[in-house]
Amino acid sequence: MPEGPEVECTKRLLKPVIGKKIREIMLTELSQKYKKYRNKQNIFNEFSGFKVKEIRRKGKFLIWIFDYEKIILNHLGMSGKWIFVDDTKQEFPTHSKIIILFEDLQKSLIFDDVRNFGQFRIFESYDSVSNYPPIRRMGIDGLALPFPIKDFLQKIDKSNYSNKEIGSVLLDQKLVAGVGNIYKAESLYEARINPTKHVKDITKKEREKLGIAISKILHKALSSQGSTFNIQPFQTPNGEEGTAQKWHKVYGKKDTPCQDCGTKISNIKQNSRSTFFCPKCQI
Ligand SMILES: [Zn+2]
Repeated sequence: MPEGPEVECTKRLLKPVIGKKIREIMLTELSQKYKKYRNKQNIFNEFSGFKVKEIRRKGKFLIWIFDYEKIILNHLGMSGKWIFVDDTKQEFPTHSKIIILFEDLQKSLIFDDVRNFGQFRIFESYDSVSNYPPIRRMGIDGLALPFPIKDFLQKIDKSNYSNKEIGSVLLDQKLVAGVGNIYKAESLYEARINPTKHVKDITKKEREKLGIAISKILHKALSSQGSTFNIQPFQTPNGEEGTAQKWHKVYGKKDTPCQDCGTKISNIKQNSRSTFFCPKCQI
């Protein structure tokens, strides 16, 4: 699933549409197979003639703001990606669900979503999107600079986390938004903390180290334009692949030797999500 870095990278590369007037937001024929898009074309027609004012990122969400009161909340889901296609080409990716045509841009923007977990959902106003629980309850932004370490220490100190394993807790977007399964594993390795450790057993010093590790890993991933590999076929809107997978130390590395100590990397399930770690370096 695209995490904070992939979503931020997408947001930055969608910059060419900012200030551009929408000709049409078209739902493709394929999209009509799915309830979330079915018979919604008329509502999307309301956006024609309005400009995209801003695209904001909140955790793993993109919030599309127009010079119109309605807002669109966009999530890339498991495999969603935005792709620019030159108007001269007229060739769209196979799993295109949404095509956005602009008045003054020589390319269309396509939302391609193979596994169809993505969202492109209209809200009546900015207030209504702010009150949508996953947005309202969202924790600190893992990509915030400087990383709000004090807030992180306060939030992780909450009693409902104390008896839980840190590997599961880190996926809670109410703690740090933008961390998913890949960067969770890499951050815990960076901080040398075992993912099965209960939060209550993690010292203040280790917690600080973890906060710094999260920030470092997410920014390193952003500089690499995210991670792209078989289970996460991420592409930027310009069709480029991410390169963060080249420096992953534990994610997807089951049974390969740890780069620091040579011990084989372990892979376990935590709340049905796979977690990779070095059993020697991470205690
Ligand atoms: Zn190791």
